[in-house]
Amino acid sequence: MKFIQLHKQALKSSAFISLLLILIVILTTTFFKIDFNYLYFSILLFFLFISVYFVFKIHTQKFIYGLLKKMNKLTPFEDEFSLHENPLETDFELFLKKFQNFAQTKHLEIEKLHNIDGFRREFLGNVSHELKTPIFTAQGYLLTLLDDDFKDKTLRKKYLERANKSIDRLNFIVKDLDMISKLESNELGLNIKSFNLIELIQGVFDLLEMKAKKRDVELSFNKNYDIPILVNGDIKRIEQVIINLLVNSIKYGSINGKTTVSIEPYIHQKILVKISDNGEGIKEIHIPRLFERFYRVDQSRSREQGGSGLGLSIVKHIVEAHNETILVKSEYGKGSEFSFTLKKVE
Ligand code: ADP
Repeated sequence: MKFIQLHKQALKSSAFISLLLILIVILTTTFFKIDFNYLYFSILLFFLFISVYFVFKIHTQKFIYGLLKKMNKLTPFEDEFSLHENPLETDFELFLKKFQNFAQTKHLEIEKLHNIDGFRREFLGNVSHELKTPIFTAQGYLLTLLDDDFKDKTLRKKYLERANKSIDRLNFIVKDLDMISKLESNELGLNIKSFNLIELIQGVFDLLEMKAKKRDVELSFNKNYDIPILVNGDIKRIEQVIINLLVNSIKYGSINGKTTVSIEPYIHQKILVKISDNGEGIKEIHIPRLFERFYRVDQSRSREQGGSGLGLSIVKHIVEAHNETILVKSEYGKGSEFSFTLKKVE
């Protein structure tokens, strides 16, 4: 332990003052040729030395103790830090280290709050940007229809349909936002049960049949899965994951393309569900940010395909809420493979 070595400092100070005094006395007595009693002077010097030593020590001790006490109050150290005034046997180095750690933690906390604030601002900006487009589109059509001079009946229907499509999009974005906020605040409790994964995926294939047909995309398993594969999870949420990944493979897959789902064994009684397409693929620089809210590789293409930019973020939240992992591999121009793990029923 390194205690504050006050007595050393006090000794040094009194020695310095005594030497200074000796020097002044020698110089003045020789210069003014004064007769001087060196015996009295030595006794005086001795008492001066002792008093300077104690005055210095006691005052500095009080001063440092006061400062440490104030600092100790400012920094609520987790473990109580003991300060002792008499003698001042505080381990100063330990105190400084604790103070440094405290300052560092506070610095990190402030940085984190800045980041959160940045995310919040970015998120609000993104939300308003996303909502603005369909609102203005719907409003534009409705204002045109409200015009007294507007008489064309066929155009009226067309404009109403377009306004309705914008409202649908608005509804879709708000639903995704609602889901994200529930997932982020852990409001969406999981209802974990065992279910047959093959049946679930086949159901999603049927659900998306029309959508896939529109872009001539073929949805299929990599092989025949004759026996059920039982997994544990929240069936509704896992269905959402599969829908989002399959919809993306249709949206960003090539026309006449192929989306294949395969189920492979994985470590620790887990299986890996792989969804691969031979679509446009994703450049490597985009991969790390792919699961961020509102992140899109190609803004206009995503909007044109009706995406909210929240699909993959929802996928990640659901998979991680199950304590599972989501993985992505992609080669630009060749295709992408999204996969996630699930726990097998033993
Ligand atoms: P979006 O609503 O834009 O589809 P997502 O969060 O689902 O939002 O996806 C984010 C971005 O990732 C998309 O805009 C798209 O650029 C890219 N992406 C997702 N899936 C694929 C895929 N299978 N092939 C190529 N790009 C994809």
